[in-house]
Amino acid sequence: MRSDKSTAGWTLIELIIIIVILGVIASVTIPAYMNMTTSAEINGCQASQGTIRSAVSMYYAKHKGVLPTSLTTSMFVNDEIPQCSTGGTITYTKTSDSTYTVQCSIPEHNTPAVNP
Ligand SMILES: [Zn+2]
Repeated sequence: MRSDKSTAGWTLIELIIIIVILGVIASVTIPAYMNMTTSAEINGCQASQGTIRSAVSMYYAKHKGVLPTSLTTSMFVNDEIPQCSTGGTITYTKTSDSTYTVQCSIPEHNTPAVNP
């Protein structure tokens, strides 16, 4: 028995409707996805900065109130200084005997400086 011609395959109109629907879905979801990746990159960098601040605080406590002059790999559990997740450079600067800043070279990645 042959199948009826009207039920075999898709008509051009049906295909056009499907393509239009997929286009609408893509135009809504792709910009939302782009924003998510941007905020994930910022969060990743801020997590790295938080890890550095924690290591500086531990150094400060261990050395009885002396801040490190620079970051060393021995301050971190995996002997690796955390980096910016998107290619920025995170810098630690000792601003006085008891204050310091940790900043990324990408301005949007920075959180307020915290004292030990
Ligand atoms: Zn960064």
